Amino acid sequence: MMLRTCAIALLFVSAACRSAAPLPAPSAAPAPPAASIPDSIRWVRDAAEYRAATLQAYRLATSAVEAAAAGRQAGSWAVVLDADETVINNVTYQLERAQQGLPYSSESWAAWVRRREASPIPGAAAFLARVRALGGRIAIVTNRLQSECADTAAVFERHQLAHDALLCRPDAGPSDKNPRFEAVASGRTPASSTPVEVVAFVGDNILDFPRLSQQSALAAEAAFAPFGTRFILLPNPMYGSWQPR
Ligand SMILES: [Mg+2]
Repeated sequence: MMLRTCAIALLFVSAACRSAAPLPAPSAAPAPPAASIPDSIRWVRDAAEYRAATLQAYRLATSAVEAAAAGRQAGSWAVVLDADETVINNVTYQLERAQQGLPYSSESWAAWVRRREASPIPGAAAFLARVRALGGRIAIVTNRLQSECADTAAVFERHQLAHDALLCRPDAGPSDKNPRFEAVASGRTPASSTPVEVVAFVGDNILDFPRLSQQSALAAEAAFAPFGTRFILLPNPMYGSWQPR
C-alpha cells in the first residue's frame, strides 16, 4: 500500500514537473507548397458550406419568384441574374491562376472563357427552370465581353441553363449594368419586347443590383432592405468589387 501511494505521489510530481517545464521550442513549420491555394478558392471548390449557401440562396430565390408570380400574367415579369459565380462557376480558372502564382488577367480570362469549362452553380439550373415554368422571363446580365458571349452562351446551352436573353458588356462599353437592367424592364431585349416587371435580381456582387455600389450600400442601411426578397446574393469570397483597387 505504501509503495502504491509513493508511486501515485511520484506520478503527480512527475506531472507537475512536466507542466512547469518550459514548452519545447516549436518545430519549424512545414514548408508551404510551391503555390498555396488561398482559402477563398478552397472554400468555393471544396466546402460543404459553399454548396449549402448556394442552394439556400436559390431556394430563397425560388420562394420569392413563386410568391411574385402569383397573380401576375405569364410573360409580364422577369428575373435578372449575373453569370459568373452566380449561375456558372469559374473556380477552376481561379485555382489554375493561384497554382501558377499569377493574378487575374484579361488575356488568361479570355482563354478560360474559350475553353467553355465553367460549371453550373448548385441550385441555379433548378431555379431557372422554375422561373420558366411559372411564366417568367430570364435575362442574364453579365460583364463578360460581347466577344466572349458566344462561348458563354455555349456553356449555358451545354448545361441547360434556361434564359431568354444573354446581355454581355459591349467590348468598348461601360461595365455599369444599370442601363441593361433598364433595357430589360422596358422591353428592349430578347427577354421581352414589351415592358416587364423585374421581380428578382440574383448576383454575387453588389453591382449586380440596381443602383447599388460598395459606397452606396455601406452609406445607407436601407439599401440592404431588398436582400432576401427581391435581391438574392450568392457567396463569392474569391473576388469582387469589395476588393481594393
Ligand atoms: Mg459575378
